[in-house]
Amino acid sequence: GYLNDKGVTYDYYESLAFQKMLKEKGIVQFLSLLKIFGKFQLHEHQFEHLSDPNVKQVETKMQLFWGDEFEGHVIKLYDDQKLALLNPNTSGLFQSLGEEHQKKLPFVILPEFGAWMIELTPNKPYQCMCYNFDQVLINMRKRIQTLQSYLPQGNQYVLIPVYPMLGVGRFTTTVESDLTASMIEKIRSQTSYIEGTPTLQQDEKQFQNEKLIQPATPYKELPVEPICNYFSQSIYFDDRIINPHPRYSTLAQNIRLRRGSKVEIKIPLFIDQNTNVEESEYEPNPGYITMDHMGFGMGNCALQTTYLSIDIDHARLLYDQLAILAPLFAALTAGSPIYKGKISNWDTKWDCLEMSVDCRSEKERNPQNANYIPKSRYSTISYFISNDKMNLEEYNDLNFPANEEIMKFTKEKAQEMDIKLDDKLLKHLGILFLRDNMVMFKDKIHIDDNTAHFEAIQSSNWNSVRFKPPPSYNSKIGWRVEFRTMEIQLTAEENAAWSIMILMIVRLFFTNYIPVNFYMPLSLVDENMRRSKEKGAILNKKFYFRTNFQEYGPATVEELTLQEIFFGKQDNTFIGIIGLIHQNRNVVNKQQCAQKEEQVYLKNKILQDEVIEFVRSKVNGTTKTLASWMRDFVTSHPNYNQDSIVTHEINFDLIKTLTAIKDRQKEDPHFPLIFSM
Ligand code: ADP
Ligand code: MG
Ligand code: MG
Ligand code: MG
Ligand code: MG
Repeated sequence: GYLNDKGVTYDYYESLAFQKMLKEKGIVQFLSLLKIFGKFQLHEHQFEHLSDPNVKQVETKMQLFWGDEFEGHVIKLYDDQKLALLNPNTSGLFQSLGEEHQKKLPFVILPEFGAWMIELTPNKPYQCMCYNFDQVLINMRKRIQTLQSYLPQGNQYVLIPVYPMLGVGRFTTTVESDLTASMIEKIRSQTSYIEGTPTLQQDEKQFQNEKLIQPATPYKELPVEPICNYFSQSIYFDDRIINPHPRYSTLAQNIRLRRGSKVEIKIPLFIDQNTNVEESEYEPNPGYITMDHMGFGMGNCALQTTYLSIDIDHARLLYDQLAILAPLFAALTAGSPIYKGKISNWDTKWDCLEMSVDCRSEKERNPQNANYIPKSRYSTISYFISNDKMNLEEYNDLNFPANEEIMKFTKEKAQEMDIKLDDKLLKHLGILFLRDNMVMFKDKIHIDDNTAHFEAIQSSNWNSVRFKPPPSYNSKIGWRVEFRTMEIQLTAEENAAWSIMILMIVRLFFTNYIPVNFYMPLSLVDENMRRSKEKGAILNKKFYFRTNFQEYGPATVEELTLQEIFFGKQDNTFIGIIGLIHQNRNVVNKQQCAQKEEQVYLKNKILQDEVIEFVRSKVNGTTKTLASWMRDFVTSHPNYNQDSIVTHEINFDLIKTLTAIKDRQKEDPHFPLIFSM
């Protein structure tokens, strides 16, 4: 029903009248969840305090779950013409599949920002503890293959973070019709230097008529007449390829209105020997790739995982711990070297997303101003929230601003509702509610019998990790944490491998045999995030990491390579994350598989070893990241002119080769067929 839910939204100026009221309603909704679920325990046995090293006995009756979500692009390949174009018609696919059919699938198909994107999640979460890990891979393969079988001939569901030609002249198919010969000719001749968005040209009336989105409300800054890129005012990216659900175009419009200007995305250009670095109307920042639409970020694809926790305290600890690991996993899964048809100096897309939805006003972006907010609403987290004794005050060193007014309201309301709310959770809310509600549906303003007003703020704080309360007042699902920095990988195997790698770490926090403590100052976590995007960071960069990660006191932090962080230091003074897993996995696996057969335990051990070898091959450079594989493919392509430019023909060969690897029609050692089952 999601796509059929046609609401009318307020533009940002109109929404101002309701921001305060809806934020307060959102807070009350969160407090109500806290009242109902604050003491929620998932299992019948008392789970001792997690960081108490003396506790040796753990009950095994917990039912803990987790799941993944991944996103991909629908790309149409024109073999004869050597074009690989986005197909912005997924809403047609959703409609033709019908809700009944979708209900029968072993996975869920979800829309995303781009009308060419599709998100897939398992329809039932996996078990966390005693579980056949191979089910993850089987489910992922099934999702990809089934979705692929629904696509019209010639289309491919491609799991790569960034479609390389996004924003280059004409980069989409028409809707449900083939391109004419003259259009193909025109597209092929386009490079980044060809100006304008040809999707808007006269000869494409059919495309216009079919995809025209009616603006939600009359736009105040422009005369009503020109409809093109009404929401974004982008000069590269056609608003009509935003998903037609009003949420998405409203976000694009209101982010721009709140900011007071178009979003500005600047990514450093990789300068090759023939690279043109002159300023032009379409490249106003020499040495950078410049973009101006939310879709340049939100049109990209990620791999995310979500974990149910034992209780709220456990979720808060897991949130902090995973936030520290988030930058590392961005570097490990790097797959985004090309933007708008040009090679960049970055390997990951995280910063592109930050810039693509940066709704801060000019004042809020200015460090000299009293209202300065240091980060976009898409960003790494800025505050550790756990009450565990491992979380020392000194780690929260960012001094991040919060919405003081809403914190005052929250405190009073909590008292009134007789809810115990500690300062850390209060500040967490204050930081989330610094941001305004960007999507208000006119008919939902006064409806508050669910958690929608909280979710409106929560779900548009796109952070490295997300602390998720139970979704509704009568939910059977508990407190969860979402891990959000991984880049989508090309194959089901790789996506399963990274998901299981994180799970192995997460499971360390579900036992209290061992203390695991990754805490270090948040400023260093942010510095790690800055480093993670650099070209080749997986091999070339050092990251801050806590080496006394089995101790409670202050952090001993060192700068280490990812190889050292995972596999330990040569001098054996630090065993690394994998060392920690090896040390404890017999305990973790056995304890959590106690009632099941030895078989599951043994099989998982083999799968875990394969995942660990996969990770080893990445951090020691035996296999390339997708980012470095793509870089090498483009720069060694016979048509590449050492000018940083990816032409439509190079793009076609790139996508064609990647799809052949994905379908295992072409072998490539950098995309290993792990999981020998
Ligand atoms: P969002 O887009 O808000 O992150 P989605 O609905 O796309 O949320 O994804 C929800 C994720 O949570 C999926 O990976 C799903 O498998 C997982 N999930 C669903 N139920 C549970 C549960 N009880 N415990 C943990 N994870 C769950
Ligand atoms: Mg999702
Ligand atoms: Mg998504
Ligand atoms: Mg998600
Ligand atoms: Mg979502």
